[in-house]
Amino acid sequence: MNSPLLPTYARPDVVFEKGEGVWLVTRDGERYLDLGAGIAVNSVGYSHPHLVEALTDQAAKLWHTSNLFRIPEGERLAQRLVDASFADTVFFTNSGAEALECAIKMARKYHAVSGSPERFRIITVEGAFHGRTLATIAAGGQKKYLEGFGPKVEGFDQVPFGDFAALEAAIGPETAAILLEPIQGEGGIRPFPLGDLRRLRQICDEKGLLLIFDEVQSGVGRTGKLFAHEWAEISPDIMAVAKGIGGGFPMGACLATAEAGKGMTAGTHGSTFGGNPLAMAVGNAVLDVVLADGFLEHVRQMGILFKQRLASLRDRYPDVVEDIRGEGLMLGLKVKPPNNEIVEAARAHHLLVIGAGDNVVRLVPPLVISETEIAEAFDRLEAAIKAVSQKAQAGDTRRALP
Ligand code: PLP
Repeated sequence: MNSPLLPTYARPDVVFEKGEGVWLVTRDGERYLDLGAGIAVNSVGYSHPHLVEALTDQAAKLWHTSNLFRIPEGERLAQRLVDASFADTVFFTNSGAEALECAIKMARKYHAVSGSPERFRIITVEGAFHGRTLATIAAGGQKKYLEGFGPKVEGFDQVPFGDFAALEAAIGPETAAILLEPIQGEGGIRPFPLGDLRRLRQICDEKGLLLIFDEVQSGVGRTGKLFAHEWAEISPDIMAVAKGIGGGFPMGACLATAEAGKGMTAGTHGSTFGGNPLAMAVGNAVLDVVLADGFLEHVRQMGILFKQRLASLRDRYPDVVEDIRGEGLMLGLKVKPPNNEIVEAARAHHLLVIGAGDNVVRLVPPLVISETEIAEAFDRLEAAIKAVSQKAQAGDTRRALP
């Protein structure tokens, strides 16, 4: 297929024209049940009437003014995020990577204004994904994203997942912060044990380091709490959020305590578009839905239901499914055949799932998914897994023949 687009994505030839709740509809009217949600973005489902109304109302009034002027809807959204979290202050961005850039700069600046400008290094964890800018590929540390793009941005030290000895050894006089996703998303839905998160908080407190959580994928209700770190009953000093916070409108945010943010004074950071009136109108509408009574409870219940059903797949198709992971509606199946085989088999059954690192199939549906839709999704997923299992067995039999 000839396309004028830079070929950085290998896309299947599928075009969606509209979406409704957890369903996507192609130009030909074919309906797909979507457990990918635009990579954990469409948190409250497609065409949510409250979001559509918020966006169209704002579109008729004012799109953009720049941050040279006050944006009341942004002030309101920031206040609501502050009220609902550990944070005292918020900077709005257009994407996850930019929220991380703000977090990284803020951590460095904090030490600079605290009299330790030499403390600029940040410890990250293997398997991490923090975005595609030069600093965030350095933070993520993955060779495949760094290769060919010149010298890696200085100041990131990576340690293996769950290795506290390596982490403590990596802390030096130049260390400013520790950065991690409470549940690694792209890395393969790998949750940090809650005890590990608490221990990290303790280490940061003892060593005077800032703790930065990347909740770009795990935040805004995805795990059944507003933010995934709440499960551990600790809080970070700085947190990056994006994806679900805009429900499909491109936006992100960097949240921080007043202390961690104390160096970010007028002129130290900025964004032309970040926090513009359209994004802020949608962000407030998303929060209306996610913070409504019973919404997070719904996510928790659907998560438990789905995980229980998925566990049965491991028992019945041990040749395909190795492990079930995750929390709430951020779930993963570690599989034995290449994960793209399952992704493609699922698509043949009009079910959308996404691959992730560690050979995982990722299930991150819109959080409004119902019990009936979970049952439907499960049936389609099982059919896909069965097809892959049968194909593998047929292959084995053929190989076994003389
Ligand atoms: N951090 C995490 C945990 C992510 O999952 C992602 C995107 O997948 C990012 C950062 C980067 O976000 P964006 O693609 O919006 O820049």
